Amino acid sequence: MQPIAQFIAGLPKAELHVHLEGTLEAELKFELAARNKLDLPYADVAAMRASYVYHDLPSFLTIFYEGSEVLLHEADFRDLVYAYLKKVASQNVLYAEMFFDPQQHTDRGVPFAVVIEGLTQGRLEAERDFGIRSKLIMCFVRERSAQNAMAVFEMALPYKHLIVGLGLDSDEKDNPPAKFAEIFRRGREEGFRLTMHCDVDQLNTHEHIRQAIEVIGVERIDHGANLLDRPELIAAAREKGVFFTVCPFANEMMRPGENQSIARRMLDLGLRLTLNSDDPAYMEGKYINENMLMAHELADFGPEDFIAVSRNAFDAAWIDEDLRDELHGCLEAYALSSIQPMAAR
Ligand SMILES: [Zn+2]
Repeated sequence: MQPIAQFIAGLPKAELHVHLEGTLEAELKFELAARNKLDLPYADVAAMRASYVYHDLPSFLTIFYEGSEVLLHEADFRDLVYAYLKKVASQNVLYAEMFFDPQQHTDRGVPFAVVIEGLTQGRLEAERDFGIRSKLIMCFVRERSAQNAMAVFEMALPYKHLIVGLGLDSDEKDNPPAKFAEIFRRGREEGFRLTMHCDVDQLNTHEHIRQAIEVIGVERIDHGANLLDRPELIAAAREKGVFFTVCPFANEMMRPGENQSIARRMLDLGLRLTLNSDDPAYMEGKYINENMLMAHELADFGPEDFIAVSRNAFDAAWIDEDLRDELHGCLEAYALSSIQPMAAR
């Protein structure tokens, strides 16, 4: 393994932008389909993976939503989150905040309680078995109505101690942040932390970023690349201390050949950049380490840059200060023990 890959592998990390439904690997999909007596329209794992061909956000989402239909019972949701946390614990992720989209499931007749209880069980078992800490962020599917989102918000309230934050994802076209302003206002009142997707190069993206920062008052933006086009948005993000959860593979998918200039420019401008995997099961199996390696290969991120990224992620995490101190302690010890030996090579 090249030294930088080794450095990334050992780096203490947090992942803050990953969709649990997007971590459902083809192998597990077949396993769950068999358990739930469902037929999949693919002969095997290889044929299923070969079908993951998309060229923009809507075509990606079609494949993504089909995949989730094997998730029916508490044990399925438990297995989903457990598999993801097991995988990233092996990549030295110490803490993860994971998105889930309850509407994908409740609209198919799966009770909210089944989703949240299965996910919670998987989280707790992964912490017991691998020591990895995690929390859940509930996302609203933005192309559905604000009423539909409000209905699922109400369903979530009895479980709010199991959910740290609210997010907004899926098809952004004609679905601006302001459409959900009332839900996010109520969410803040109920104690949820707030984030939202502003995907790369979407229609009206600058206005969406402005609304997310100024109307909704998010603490983080998921992606948010187009902020770089407008000095006034950069200034607003700086003033409010907004964090960015950027995903290298998704950047290249949305803007082929961009060579991680989004991540590089954010870092160089002193914006609060974090690096993440988004939907690794649908993105050539690239989890957080492989995404970081892309930032190295395409935009020359080095050890100091990755330490800055991890530091940002621990600062951005919605955790208590004891855990934050512990995570920073692991990172600073790693920095001390690895940077000088690397430089000497
Ligand atoms: Zn995402």
